[in-house]
Amino acid sequence: MRSHLLNDTTAEQYRRSVTDGVERVAAKLAATDRPFTGISVDALSPRIDEIDLDQPLHDTTAVLDELEDVYLRDAIYFHHPRYLAHLNCPVVIPAVLGEAVLSAVNSSLDTWDQSAGGTLIERKLIDWTTERIGLGPAADGVFTSGGTQSNLQALLLAREEAKSNDLAELRIFASEVSHFSVKKSAKLLGLGPDAVVSIPVDHDKRMQTVALARELERCAKDGLVPMAVVATAGSTDFGSIDPLPEIAELCEQFGTWMHVDAAYGCGLLASLKHRDRINGIERADSVTVDYHKSFFQPVSSSAVLVRDAATLRHATYHAEYLNPRRMVEERIPNQVDKSLQTTRRFDALKLWMTLRTMGADGIGQLFDEVCELARDGWRLLAADPRFDVVVEPSLSTLVFRYIPAAVTDPAEIDRANLYARKALFASGDAIVAGTKVGGRHYLKFTLLNPETQASDIAAVLDLIAGHAEQYLGESLDRAS
Ligand SMILES: *Cc1c(COP(=O)(O)O)cnc(C)c1O
Repeated sequence: MRSHLLNDTTAEQYRRSVTDGVERVAAKLAATDRPFTGISVDALSPRIDEIDLDQPLHDTTAVLDELEDVYLRDAIYFHHPRYLAHLNCPVVIPAVLGEAVLSAVNSSLDTWDQSAGGTLIERKLIDWTTERIGLGPAADGVFTSGGTQSNLQALLLAREEAKSNDLAELRIFASEVSHFSVKKSAKLLGLGPDAVVSIPVDHDKRMQTVALARELERCAKDGLVPMAVVATAGSTDFGSIDPLPEIAELCEQFGTWMHVDAAYGCGLLASLKHRDRINGIERADSVTVDYHKSFFQPVSSSAVLVRDAATLRHATYHAEYLNPRRMVEERIPNQVDKSLQTTRRFDALKLWMTLRTMGADGIGQLFDEVCELARDGWRLLAADPRFDVVVEPSLSTLVFRYIPAAVTDPAEIDRANLYARKALFASGDAIVAGTKVGGRHYLKFTLLNPETQASDIAAVLDLIAGHAEQYLGESLDRAS
């Protein structure tokens, strides 16, 4: 069994084994003609159920053959140009190379004595990000597992900085299209059930700052404490960007922590054309970025950034075996003092490899391309009488629904759209997402693949219309 340990004596086996795996994936990527095979849960689960984990195969080739059957063949492939569903990007090769290196060396980024250079590389990337945001000289941050964790940590700091210890009094203000992790965080932070005040959005799905001002005033009048305003820079559904400068003004006026959730919109930090769309982000107290959404990085790669490094102390605890206080005096850097996690992946290496190979402009160019593609998609949808499209994209999502000329019952239109999404998924030809707008079912494209063409969008719209028409036809038959 020692032959499976990665060390000086097994370097050759490591090379062979990993190369075999890479070959399989490369062959798969080259041969994939659809984002999905369309397999059902019922068809796939017996294959996994019947495997006895207590009966190992011992042989890598056999294990890879089996993996083909239980995973690779039927996985969802984000690199395919007709994967248009969620905020999953195709990944860049330098980052995948980084992933291979980081898992083999297996540094843990909690302390210097488990990572050495890794700690410094992560710090440099944090500084690079805070400079791009413009957070100022006292800024800092840390890599996290994702936007959910980044939002939680930011709101933890906001809670500790709030002007009241009475958790029942604290209020968080976020738009009605903000990410659900804001509510989840409020719960984890022990706030009351009414802690998150939902602020309505305008026609473009941006937070209405007049309503925000009114709610902040009401909060003060009721003797409650505004803990934080969460501004969304790129809402998950619409890519809409809240008016950051106006929100910053209100936060200053009411003495409130400003958190910018740029999990999706952070790609604009590298953009060559549209950086100005997130102007005002530099006034935040904390910012969430998801490199695994708009920097073309593999999951996980995310960070939380803060204006004032000192606020990170709210996550600091000392353990004699790990990060005793004397280490601070000896000026030995560690990241665990800033993190909710202890043992932590060296995800920063992926971004490092990406920036060192492609440069930030390379990433920005790819993100600009998908934003441009979304504009093309918008024009297609706006000109197509078969569809109703919701807002002009500020990033790269399109929310729309099929509206058959002959049908007026909105519930029937809902069912046709739900059916079309399901049928498309089952066909594997393309994958789209769905959401609700004004209580009605809509479909969504999240465009993060520069390889997707306007012609793909047009073709997928035809497929959707085809499935929806088929549903409506059968529904008529059922009725008659
Ligand atoms: C995706 C997303 C999150 C959550 O990020 P994860 O990396 O999925 O945890 C938070 N906020 C917004 C706006 C998002 O789009």
